[in-house]
Amino acid sequence: MKTKFCIYRKMRESGSKRLSSTVVILLMGCLVAVLVAGCGGESGEAGAAEDKIQATTTTTMITDLVRQIGGDRVEVTGLMGPGVDPHLYRASQGDVSALREADVVFYNGLFLEGQMEDILEKTGEQKPTVQVTEAIPEKDLLESPQYEGQFDPHVWFDATLWETTVDPVVEQLSELDPDGASEFEQRGEEYKQQVDELHSFVEEEISSIPEEQRVLVTAHDAFNYFGHQYGMEVRGLQGISTESEAGSRDVQELADFLAENEIKAIFVESSVPPETIEAVQDAAQDKGWELEIGGELYSDAGGDEGTEAETYTGMFRENVETITGALK
Ligand SMILES: [Zn+2]
Repeated sequence: MKTKFCIYRKMRESGSKRLSSTVVILLMGCLVAVLVAGCGGESGEAGAAEDKIQATTTTTMITDLVRQIGGDRVEVTGLMGPGVDPHLYRASQGDVSALREADVVFYNGLFLEGQMEDILEKTGEQKPTVQVTEAIPEKDLLESPQYEGQFDPHVWFDATLWETTVDPVVEQLSELDPDGASEFEQRGEEYKQQVDELHSFVEEEISSIPEEQRVLVTAHDAFNYFGHQYGMEVRGLQGISTESEAGSRDVQELADFLAENEIKAIFVESSVPPETIEAVQDAAQDKGWELEIGGELYSDAGGDEGTEAETYTGMFRENVETITGALK
């Protein structure tokens, strides 16, 4: 892009010859200044877009991860935006191009991107395609309550597990851009630091909720790792994947549980329609228990661009504030 810019300036200079010689000299002076500042100054740096690693990512959490580690050496294209449900997401024609044009692809795996398994596998035959959860020891993975023999993919809500996604990203980017290796390493360490701080914050906040209120009810089981790590009982209405719809018996059972235990609030999720959780609220009301909707939680996708919840640590913090605000 810089090169194109300078050619444009040269064209302007050739046109200026019709002007008086003073103006020509002035323009020549400007041109030299532009050439020195604009073209000569940045050679060798990863400034131009075509010099950058082109990375394509799936969820917003992974887009944020790769952006933070890659800095200005990596151009990241995230396929799934805010509010998108990765369990149901199918690759569009534009996504197929973004995967084809990428130098490297990062995805969650553990069947989170259930409808994209085939295309990710095919992409993996052609270019580095990295499952960011690959370094999590199997003993730390929770079983999927719904699909036998599979693991629960929602690992990002245990900050200690999400921290293990940093090294595979640093390694892969360093392989593609060895000159940037020390930068990736450093930014990876900074990101780990942020995640450590997040972990302490979550521990502290959750411990401020009275023990008998530490029950988290949401539309689908995205929070099992969260419950496991931070000591909350988690109940999801829809099972682990949003593919199966909750039956009316599930709604009644959950409403019974909430009324009996006098749980104050339940939560809706940004990537799941709110109707199911509202049905629970109505059923609890029929049993004489006033249940609040405690707010909206980010589950499988972060918040809008430009908001704090756009980043992984931001969305997690907001969730915890919403939970403690409603249950404390
Ligand atoms: Zn999910």
